Amino acid sequence: MFNTLIQELQAYRALLVAVSKTHPEFAILKLYEQGQRDFGENRVQELVDKQPELPDDINWHFIGHLQTNKVKYIAPFVHLIHSIDSPRILREINKQAKNNDRIIDCLLQFKIAEEATKYGLSLEEGRQLLESAEYREMENIRLVGVMGMSTYTDDKQQVRREFRRLKSIFDTLKTDYFAEADHFKEISMGMSDDYALALEEGSTIVRIGTLLFGQRDYG
Ligand SMILES: *Cc1c(COP(=O)(O)O)cnc(C)c1O
Repeated sequence: MFNTLIQELQAYRALLVAVSKTHPEFAILKLYEQGQRDFGENRVQELVDKQPELPDDINWHFIGHLQTNKVKYIAPFVHLIHSIDSPRILREINKQAKNNDRIIDCLLQFKIAEEATKYGLSLEEGRQLLESAEYREMENIRLVGVMGMSTYTDDKQQVRREFRRLKSIFDTLKTDYFAEADHFKEISMGMSDDYALALEEGSTIVRIGTLLFGQRDYG
């Protein structure tokens, strides 16, 4: 599975984030040995437990909802935070990045699902954040793109519409705020069930768990 997936992604020049949440370290190492370096986790505790046990050159992506009081635990090493859904969390990441003498790359998470979902900004909220004086003064974060999650549904047309919406949000922000910024280029969308559609709609990062590691057992 891994090799065919990598080939498919190469055609689109997209990055694979292997979502290893709930899976043990040996499963991660198995993919690592095949060359995979980018892994994603959605719980801070699980990530800080795993990180010291695994090779140093893994790029750890944080993909879940992040609470402000937990940012300090991942700030020393996290590679990319996909889930910025408020000015408050960005403020805290900037502060903890500064404490660690780092610049942390982040993605703005947008609400694209037509169903009611909890997390993610609207385009208007994204604009407000980017236009705020506070954001402009943040020196220890770098926004490199956007992230979104589609509705969990078999309706492919709906999923495609939602991915198109994220691409259009990205294009809008790129034009209005990041025209000169080459680093603002990432669109994180697509999971095991819908990554092929996401690639067709312009994804640059897919987050895939089940397809690589099998079903999760939440016990
Ligand atoms: C779990 C998770 C994934 C991976 O989902 P699969 O269906 O197992 O591929 C991707 N993105 C986020 C934000 C997740 O929480």
